[in-house]
Order: sequence, then structure tokens, then C-alpha cells
Amino acid sequence: SKVLVTGANGFIAVWILKHLLEAGYAVRGSIRSQEKATHLHSLFADYGTKFETIVVPDITEVDAFDEAIQGADAVIHAASPVSFSTEDPQDLIKPAVDGTISVLSSAAKFPNIKRVTQLSSAAAITGAADVGNIDERNWNDGALNEVKTKGRAANQVAKYQVSTYLAEKAAWDFVESHKSQLTSDFLTICPVLSFGPVLQETAGPDKLNETMKEFADVVFRGEVRPADYQASWIDVRDVSRAHVLALQKKEAGGKRFLLGAGQFVWQDFYDIVNDLEIPGARAPVGEPGVGRSTTYVKTYNTSLARRVLGIEFGDQTTMTRDIIENLQQRGYLF
Ligand code: NDP
Repeated sequence: SKVLVTGANGFIAVWILKHLLEAGYAVRGSIRSQEKATHLHSLFADYGTKFETIVVPDITEVDAFDEAIQGADAVIHAASPVSFSTEDPQDLIKPAVDGTISVLSSAAKFPNIKRVTQLSSAAAITGAADVGNIDERNWNDGALNEVKTKGRAANQVAKYQVSTYLAEKAAWDFVESHKSQLTSDFLTICPVLSFGPVLQETAGPDKLNETMKEFADVVFRGEVRPADYQASWIDVRDVSRAHVLALQKKEAGGKRFLLGAGQFVWQDFYDIVNDLEIPGARAPVGEPGVGRSTTYVKTYNTSLARRVLGIEFGDQTTMTRDIIENLQQRGYLF
């Protein structure tokens, strides 16, 4: 069967393409402009006509995906902005929400579509205001309030979080109100901060996708973050595998899956990098071992994803070793 993946040149999306092709699916990737196709076609040259690309210049247009979706059986929607430095929150919200609605509107017109998966985010589920054990019943209302009350002056991360929140809410609302037209079911995958080797085309070390740029800036370039910063991480390859597993499981339909491998403080990654002793890859020394005595304000309940999708999550050391190898191959670490 054939899967349309939107935003096919993104950090997570390229891994989704790879794992779909490896699993035997035919894949069509949508991109914003033709020049973004070249790198993808060279990456997946071995798959011949099983991999194709299509240009969708503006995902916010009504009917934007009508052509791209034809002949596909399923859609994975992964085109959405990720930025932690946006002035007007609408610059993130509009493409996130309108892009999602155009995908679903096109799906509603083509009865061959059996499944639509939205790559949403744990950011839609939880933000700075929440503590305790979080699961899929939660919504990040804290970020919504922050952006509603402060607008352009809102916290940068909250602006991004709200775009994922509103896009996912809009999707569930659309699915509910178009039940009679939709032949497909719908699910969302909500990963925490995703790191890992990059497959996408990058124009230089400072042109990585937002989350890998953050990882490289902090871990390899020693940029300082607030001492109390703690967050959750997942290997991008587990995020992409979850998308493939979800396609293969009927019972995944209608569900929202929170994905995360564990909590971290940046010191964990400093320690892993320094213990690996790979020539050319050093992290700040910091206070080795601090991660082991950190108390986390928040944990993530990922039991639904583990039970329904059968997914297991990789470890921090393997991911970090693979990131170093990947960034060194690109000449981004010396
Ligand atoms: P990338 O920035 O690497 O990829 C984003 C993709 O979306 C690109 O294909 C990009 O295309 C496309 N895109 C961005 N803005 C627009 C727009 N206005 N119109 C059309 N296409 C657009 O990000 P990630 O792979 O990291 O993220 C992809 C999705 O996964 C996002 O929805 C994000 O919220 C979600 N996510 C990411 C996590 C992470 O830690 N990375 C964690 C949880 C969820 P172009 O190259 O043309 O700009």
C-alpha cells in the first residue's frame, strides 16, 4: 500500500520515509519546493518507483493535498513548523492548524484513505505548568493561557507548544464533525523532544533542525541553559518506528500516543559524551553524575504506546554515540 508523508524533508519525516520503505510500503513525500526532492531521491534511490515526491507549495490552502493524496491508502502528516524564536505566534499556529485541516479535508474526499496519522507532539499534551505523571488525557492548557494572555511577549517554547496543541485539537474536532464523510480513522503520535542522527539535507551545522541544533549547541558547543532545566527525550528512530507500527495496528485508530524514553538533564549527555571518549567529541565537564540525583517534577506514562504499538525505546548512550558519528560524518564536529 502507498503512504503519503507530508513535510517529507523534515528531521522526523525522513526517518519515517526510511522505515516505511524498509517495511515494504510505497511512499510519496510532499515537499514545499522541487529543489528539496533531490536529496531525498538520492537517499532512497534503491527503492526506484516505490519512492516518489510531490510539490505542495502552500499547505494552508484549501484542497492543497487533493492531488498528493490520490492513489494513497494512508497519510502521515508531518509538515508543521518547529521554531523556538518566533515573534508572532500566528506564524506557527496558522500553518500548523490550516495544514492539518487541509490534509483531513482532502482525506474526506478520497474514500481510498483508510488511516490518517498526525505527528503531533508531547507539547500539545503538557508544558511548564504541569507536574506529576502525565498521560494522553492531559492537554497543555498552560501554554494556551500563556499565549492567549501575552501574545507576542509569550514564552518562546509556549508559542511552539500552542501551535501543536491547536493543530491537534482542530484535527480531533474535524474528525468528530466529519464522521460521515471520512472513510479513514485518525490517530496522533505525540513524542517528547526528539534527538538522533540527521538524514535530512542540512546547509551547515547551524542549519540543523531546531531540536538537533539545540542538542549540538548545548552538548558540543557548551551553550549554557538554566541550571534547573529538565526535559524528556526520545530517539527519532523510535518516533518513526512508532508511525510504522501504528499503521500496522487497526486498534491504534482513534488513539493519541504519548512517546518518550525518559527524563534528562543536559549533564546526562555531557557525561555520556565525555565517557565515550570519541576523538573530536567533547562536552562541558559540568558536575558529573548530577543526573543520577535529579528529582524530576514530571514523568510520562507511555504505557499505551508500549501496549498497543508494541514499541520499546532505545537508550541514551546508543543515541548519543550515533549522533556523534552522524555529526562527524557531516563535518559538524571536529
Ligand atoms: P523539521 O523542522 O525538521 O521539519 C518540519 C517540516 O515541516 C519540514 O518538512 C518543513 O518544510 C515543514 N514545514 C514547516 N513549516 C511549514 C509551513 N509553513 N508550510 C509547509 N511546511 C512546513 O521538524 P521536525 O521533524 O523536528 O518536526 C516535525 C513535526 O514533529 C512537527 O509537527 C513537530 O511539532 C513535531 N515534533 C517534533 C519533535 C522534535 O523534538 N523534533 C518532538 C515532537 C513533535 P520546509 O523544509 O520546507 O520548511
